[in-house]
Amino acid sequence: MSDDTATYDLVITGCIALRDNAGTSPRFESNTTIAVTDGRIAYIGPDGDAPPAGTDVVEAAGLVAIPGLINCHTHAAMTLFRGIAEDVPVHSWFNEYVWPMEVNLTEEDVYLGTLLACAEMLSSGVTSFADHYFYMDAAARAVDESGIRANLGWAFFSSMGSQGLEQSADFAERLNGAAGGRITTSLAPHAPYTVNDADLTAAAGEAERIGVRVHIHAAENLAQTESSVSSRGITPIEILNRTGILDAGTIIAHGCGITEADIPILAEHRTSVGVAHCPKVYLKHALPPLTPIRALNAVGIPVGMGTDGVAGNNTLDILESMRLTAMTQKYVEEDATWLTTGHAINLATTQSAETIGLADDIGALEVGRRADIALIDMSGPHCQPVHDTAAALVYSARAGDVVTVVSDGAVVLKDRKLLTIDVAAIRSELSDRLDRLIDVTHGDQIQRYDP
Ligand SMILES: [Zn+2]
Repeated sequence: MSDDTATYDLVITGCIALRDNAGTSPRFESNTTIAVTDGRIAYIGPDGDAPPAGTDVVEAAGLVAIPGLINCHTHAAMTLFRGIAEDVPVHSWFNEYVWPMEVNLTEEDVYLGTLLACAEMLSSGVTSFADHYFYMDAAARAVDESGIRANLGWAFFSSMGSQGLEQSADFAERLNGAAGGRITTSLAPHAPYTVNDADLTAAAGEAERIGVRVHIHAAENLAQTESSVSSRGITPIEILNRTGILDAGTIIAHGCGITEADIPILAEHRTSVGVAHCPKVYLKHALPPLTPIRALNAVGIPVGMGTDGVAGNNTLDILESMRLTAMTQKYVEEDATWLTTGHAINLATTQSAETIGLADDIGALEVGRRADIALIDMSGPHCQPVHDTAAALVYSARAGDVVTVVSDGAVVLKDRKLLTIDVAAIRSELSDRLDRLIDVTHGDQIQRYDP
């Protein structure tokens, strides 16, 4: 260790640490120690003398250490609807399943669903997520208890009247910085096709006043962009620009329908705008094209990895999102040399941290950053032998290979056992809620999908 007199709260020894992921040529270093003080990385470098007695030590010989993964767009409590709306097109997914079922949600349902999501994410090395949902005080309670980090936004439609925007702004203001700083917030208008321009303009103003970003679905697919152009003469991205949403800073969910003409508009806001890419849902809903990652990255607009809600994606597995991104980008670009393993890791770390507005705090194992760390065991037959650690991480490693996770300096998963969440208790709490949650005989729905 660098300083014999230093004391640390936690020391991870012997790992193979990802030391440089800022570009597309990642560097891993063996026999590395990571030391943590007050929730931040205080030292990272070669193994040295044993830490002083009393220091919490994680022996990580041979384990690969990466920055905790980041889910840049999800609706965490939709774990409650896992697998309930399969093999249907997107309009019936919304109008016949998800939006009718969301009428049934209670605050306690959202708490339990979010806690289950936190359990799944922490178990698979995800230490941060950007959430866009309802009853967000309940989601915040789950985040606080689980030890995960989250950017939370209370979703609203203009059909809710002024109360929707007010609630979203009130929540963003009250909760920003909560849970010892692990919670940050966003304003969360649903989309330009469900929130009118006046409400978008007001949301942008509130976000700027509070000092947070706007998290919004936009240009989710090409059909939405075409519909916007034919009905209003402008693209969804132009709507975000005219209403000040991009000036406020934006997490754009999906962006698959971003046009060539939209790129320079987004490039002007590249330091405060990112696009969350959730490939599994685009593939499942058969909605081409994919997010134009090549065009976005070419002008410095960050693209982060996401899953969207589990009702579409079925998992909250960011290793899976990263793998699908690498493979589908090669396929659509018809270029096997594009979206390298190093680039995929950069998307899942640096660019994801930029996308959710935490570029200086997370996304790299560097002194001074928050200590969000996932330790991955690559000794399994599906990873061996490891000639290339980056390739093993992108194409071979599984969520279940994550053995130990540190979030904000605290060990939350140890030897595959969650220390902060009792999954069996959640399962039992949920069992008598499930029939009520999926009942759609009431004939109501929270919103109509007709972009
Ligand atoms: Zn979404």
